[in-house]
Amino acid sequence: MKFEDLGLSKKVLAAVEASGYKEPTAIQAQAIPEVLNKRDVMGIAQTGTGKTASFVLPMLSLLERGRARARMPRTLILEPTRELAAQVEENFKRYGQNHKLTVALLIGGVSFEEQLKKLDRGADVLIATPGRLLDHFERGKLLMTGVDILVIDEADRMLDMGFIPDIERIAKLVPFTRQTLFFSATMPPEIERLSGQFLQNPVQIEAAPPSTASATIDQRAVGVPIEDYEKRAVLRELINGADNLKNAIVFCNRKVDVSNLWRSLERHGFSAGALHGDMDQTSRMATLDAFRSNKITILVASDVAARGLDIPDVSHIFNFDVPVTAEDYVHRIGRTGRAGRNGSAFMLVSPADRKGFHAIEKLIGETIEWDGDEVEWDDKAGKRRRSTKSGKDEKSGSGRSSRKSQSSRNRKADREIEEPVGESTMDIAPADFDAQSLVEAEGTDRTKSRKPKKGAGKSRRSSSDNREVGILEPVDASHPFGGEENIPAFLR
Ligand code: AMP
Repeated sequence: MKFEDLGLSKKVLAAVEASGYKEPTAIQAQAIPEVLNKRDVMGIAQTGTGKTASFVLPMLSLLERGRARARMPRTLILEPTRELAAQVEENFKRYGQNHKLTVALLIGGVSFEEQLKKLDRGADVLIATPGRLLDHFERGKLLMTGVDILVIDEADRMLDMGFIPDIERIAKLVPFTRQTLFFSATMPPEIERLSGQFLQNPVQIEAAPPSTASATIDQRAVGVPIEDYEKRAVLRELINGADNLKNAIVFCNRKVDVSNLWRSLERHGFSAGALHGDMDQTSRMATLDAFRSNKITILVASDVAARGLDIPDVSHIFNFDVPVTAEDYVHRIGRTGRAGRNGSAFMLVSPADRKGFHAIEKLIGETIEWDGDEVEWDDKAGKRRRSTKSGKDEKSGSGRSSRKSQSSRNRKADREIEEPVGESTMDIAPADFDAQSLVEAEGTDRTKSRKPKKGAGKSRRSSSDNREVGILEPVDASHPFGGEENIPAFLR
């Protein structure tokens, strides 16, 4: 199949050629002709399949007819995060280089002024996160009655982030006769129900069977003890020993772990950055740019921040934690092995992770091979750890014996410097925060001052317990809207 056979306009074909694409990916070959025929599309596609171009290219062709009017966008694309929205804008710039179309990006965390100017001029394409879009609408700056094409991208992510009521509201504000393109990597029942609500007689297109991982990814499980400082030691060992590691994303379930791990890696001399949904937009973009341009090698990230990001050619994924939901595993490892490349995905699995691990194997329909000894399951290990004072007398789970001894060697260094950070209520530092200088400046004094005083055990334990309640909250659940800026105005 060639791009020329799909019915795209000459201008679009020229831009595709300039991008260096030889042939359409499976989802592009299937979706593009249907979109051009004005059919509703339900696309089940993992990230990395060329999904974005499957809707951007035909939209550009369709937009060649007609003109934008002030405050009345002609097409609307909804994305769950600002990064994804910015990425789709990039796609419009790249593939729309031969068009004179106005693309407006309505995302939170940046000023309304520029966005308003673009809306006033008339936008052909509006790319928005739901919260900021509704904000503009409620301020009376936007009319959605001219929208011919509505794209709902990453629908399962929208669901996770609590955006579905917003999406339902937005769908009522655009004309009933619009064309709708609906994309999701996974198809939980709720998403199936919504697609029935939003789409009319859609063609269903599957780029890969739902919830499967790309065959180009080598997946491994690594047995680890339960304590984070021990997991960090194993992670360092894995990174140092990885074959052909060009760059890596390390996923954590909790915000505080993103922060701690990033600092720990920096302290151990790795080139690392952190990406987290609560960081301000400028820092997030700066970290991502640094990672994309290879200024940093390792990106420590939460699911919210990293979902769907197009970072071509990531060689390794490390799951520092077994993800909270099995679907997240598919998304996480989908950051590597993209567009036919090879990738490696390691997951640290502790004795307490039996349920999560088996849920993943069930979802992907594959057995994940163990790198080293299989972990010895102990369902109560997590609970015991939380009720243990400081983990000093914690029983280690199984793992590779060499890693265990490595862990013990690193244990002291980790705990002395990192434990105070782990107990900090500060969620994450800005991307340019210098962890090394903090350690150097505060060093042992800081560590000492944080050590519990004799006799202070009781009160200390109770405050630590309180903190843990917050710390243990999964990232996704911490803010149903994925950040303040995404809360619809009517709920603020
Ligand atoms: P996406 O799934 O939309 O995030 O795209 C994943 C990556 O594949 C992006 O870096 C695209 O630039 C790239 N890509 C999209 N379509 C093609 C194609 N037909 N051939 C090669 N690469 C592509």
